[in-house]
Amino acid sequence: DPAAASRLAEWVDASRVIVSFTGAGISTESGIPDFRSPGSPWLANRPIDFELFVSSEDARREAWRRKFTMDDLYRGAKPGRGHAALARLVHRGLSPGVITQNIDGLHQDSGLADDEIVELHGNGTYATCLGCGRRHELAAIRAEFEASGRAPRCVACGEPVKSATISFGQAMPEAAMQRAADWTLACDLFIAIGSSLQVYPAAGFPQIAKRNGARLVIVNRDPTALDDVADLVLHGEIGAILGPLAATH
Ligand code: NAD
Repeated sequence: DPAAASRLAEWVDASRVIVSFTGAGISTESGIPDFRSPGSPWLANRPIDFELFVSSEDARREAWRRKFTMDDLYRGAKPGRGHAALARLVHRGLSPGVITQNIDGLHQDSGLADDEIVELHGNGTYATCLGCGRRHELAAIRAEFEASGRAPRCVACGEPVKSATISFGQAMPEAAMQRAADWTLACDLFIAIGSSLQVYPAAGFPQIAKRNGARLVIVNRDPTALDDVADLVLHGEIGAILGPLAATH
């Protein structure tokens, strides 16, 4: 819809502070499937929730086995046109950064710094110890896992090590939640991109922005849970819709 696209471009130009909020849909152009679209590999098995991971060595082994299988499939994914457009908004001083539910590290790869990204669901490109919080690199974890057949434990404290992502049932990262809230309350344009907007508390941020007086725009192929409250909904391909944004000036 060209009228909707030109309205989005107008609002981008007219806004003081733009915050973008992304879900798995921004990374499908990069070859990583989203979570809820038909045929999702993430839903082929029942997700291992946090309590199960903590309580069962078998579950931890299975979680690591699945993770390394997925990593092999999606290794080498590069940022797409959507990631690039959002990075331009930040680099032009129009936006403090991107709030993401994604764990794939592609916003970093698009040239954003760590303080320009809020990761609500953590990051799957490294691991952390559940006991002492120490960071572990995946290559080392994997080598140990494959050699021993046992779920990895921290060399420093002996507690289980987990991908640095937030599993179902796991506490949200406090600092990330606070930064997301600060940005959300500071913006006058909030653009939600590639998310079905069904996962809470993440999906609360678009609503907070809207209630605080910001314009809310949703860019997504399929209808979302918040289409009714948005000021503008663009149904289509993220790469095509965001690609032209902030492309010149
Ligand atoms: P979701 O799967 O619930 O929703 C994704 C939405 O993106 C869908 O509504 C789909 O219509 C839309 N979409 C997909 N490709 C698109 C495209 N090219 N153009 C326009 N729209 C497109 O994802 P969610 O809301 O992010 O929730 C899933 C949870 O699982 C999140 O926490 C997410 O981070 C996590 N997850 C992350 C990744 C990743 O890091 N890449 C991948 C899968 C799941």
